[in-house]
Amino acid sequence: MPRIKNHLSTRTLGVLAGVWLCSSLAMSAAAWFTVTAGGTCALAMLMACPFGLCGLAATLWLVDRWLLVPLRRLADHARFAHDFSDAPREMPFDLSSRTDAVGLLARQLQQLIEESRSHNAALLEQTLNDPLTGLGNRRMLEKRLDMLVPLSRRLSCTVSAMMIDVDHFKPFNDNYGHPAGDSCLVDIAGVLRDTFRRDTDVVVRLGGEEFLVLLINTGKEEAWALADAMRGMIQALGLPHEYSPVAPVVTVSVGVVTSPNGLLIDIDEMIAQADQALYDCKAHGRNRVAARLIGAEAASAGPIPAAEPRARTSSG
Ligand code: GH3
Ligand code: MG
Ligand code: MG
Repeated sequence: MPRIKNHLSTRTLGVLAGVWLCSSLAMSAAAWFTVTAGGTCALAMLMACPFGLCGLAATLWLVDRWLLVPLRRLADHARFAHDFSDAPREMPFDLSSRTDAVGLLARQLQQLIEESRSHNAALLEQTLNDPLTGLGNRRMLEKRLDMLVPLSRRLSCTVSAMMIDVDHFKPFNDNYGHPAGDSCLVDIAGVLRDTFRRDTDVVVRLGGEEFLVLLINTGKEEAWALADAMRGMIQALGLPHEYSPVAPVVTVSVGVVTSPNGLLIDIDEMIAQADQALYDCKAHGRNRVAARLIGAEAASAGPIPAAEPRARTSSG
């Protein structure tokens, strides 16, 4: 128990010594006055003084050792453990195993801290995830960007961003109803989750029927191939959409933008350009992928005609 040792060896012993010294001086002075007054009980008082003071010091020491120090440790524990961090902090369990009031306090404090921690974790989950699809939301995107942008700069690797938007989703909602629209978004999110599985892949629902995917160390061709495969899998889901002029099933358009190797990326600029590429897809008939390099004046790959739908190869 280094904390207790430290505490006893410094402040507590100092206070005890001070109390002892002052008390001894006061009692010795009282005894001296009594002796000069000629009383015989003064001698007895003088001899009894050190024993009384020893008792007082021992009492103070015990109170400090068994009550004040544990309470101080509990207060420290509460102050440092009751935060928003996920890392569990070690409880002084030697306290919670005690059968007295301090033990009871320690156990109740630990229970409160654990409840509070799981409550905080649930709240954090809610603030970072989209409740409908279970994908991340904009806040999650910001959180992941804090890590990914410096990493991509340090490794001088390519970064690709994909903006995905469901084609003619308003008529889908208007005709099949909002719950069907929600279910459609959940199915699309499932395909995104199946397609982009790397730990560093970021897949978020930006809002409405728009999704964003960020991939590091993924070049333009690879990003395009992944985007087109994902687009084909969504079409292959075969979710009926008889009000779409594009296809009899739900389809998506995807704008892809890639930063060249080693270029310091500006993520806002990337997202704006991915949005622009998506706009090109919409303008060229939807259900397609448009890819471009960041900084390029115009889409270098141009909108690419929709490929044949591919079979869904993975699930999860
Ligand atoms: P475009 O092909 O140009 O993207 O046309 P669109 O109809 O998909 O685009 P628009 O932006 O006009 O419509 C998007 C629709 O998405 C509007 C709204 O009905 C629907 N929507 C937005 N958020 C949700 C949601 O959370 N759940 C459901 N079911 N529908 C949503
Ligand atoms: Mg939209
Ligand atoms: Mg849309």
